[in-house]
Amino acid sequence: MKNQEIDTDLPGLGQHYCVECARHFISDTHYQEHLKSKLHKRRLKKLEDEPYTQEEADRAAGLGKPDNGKRGGRLSKEIDVEMED
Ligand SMILES: [Zn+2]
Repeated sequence: MKNQEIDTDLPGLGQHYCVECARHFISDTHYQEHLKSKLHKRRLKKLEDEPYTQEEADRAAGLGKPDNGKRGGRLSKEIDVEMED
């Protein structure tokens, strides 16, 4: 992620970006402060603890939990949204 392109729509022209948190910072100082922050460290730990690739691999292999119930839940949720509109 070195030599990032300058993007004037982004804070700090897109030059101070934390990949793990998908966040832009207005200056290198802010970025360095972020790297020391709890938010960033918790994010790193979460990425270590929960490798999403394993979950995706299980799901692709059909080893995940049956999600029929989840689909039913999502259906009723969609009806709720329609009623709100
Ligand atoms: Zn971060």
